[in-house]
Amino acid sequence: MNKTWVVFDLDGTLLDVSARRIAAKALVEKVSHQVGQSKGEMLRSVIELPELLATDRVFQGARQLLEELSENEDIGIVLFTARQNRTLLLGQLEGLDLERFFDMVCNTGGEPKRNDFLPRQLRHGAIKIYVGDSYEDEIAALGLGARFWPVPESMSKGDSPDSILEENFFHNLRSEILA
Ligand SMILES: [Mg+2]
Repeated sequence: MNKTWVVFDLDGTLLDVSARRIAAKALVEKVSHQVGQSKGEMLRSVIELPELLATDRVFQGARQLLEELSENEDIGIVLFTARQNRTLLLGQLEGLDLERFFDMVCNTGGEPKRNDFLPRQLRHGAIKIYVGDSYEDEIAALGLGARFWPVPESMSKGDSPDSILEENFFHNLRSEILA
């Protein structure tokens, strides 16, 4: 039997990365006058520093959903992220004990998310739901013929962490995936 595939973005979707973004911006502000790089380039070069990755937090309810979906043999789970460094990505997933839930971990190496970063079997309608927090995710979902399930902005931005909002988001997503 063919699996039902579900795609998850990582940053801002499964992980609250707001603390990391704030720390990275502060770091760039502190040293930006010393070097010849643009702020955008600098931000890119510090955003995946291990000490900053250590500030990421798994959203409330995300682990429970991944656990349940991964036990369902009819469902395949794909992580699709634009992270630049795959070694650090896998290390972080292992450290957070998330790695075991995914059938596939695909990263673009910092490139914009294009569908050809995913295996051929996932293109053209194989994916039921694509969960993400950005416009880029929405476009990728469209290209894959998948239904896009957006993370509420207040959650992905992590302005005021709300565990009820997070729990509800993953609870509703669960119903949708299993429907
Ligand atoms: Mg994201």
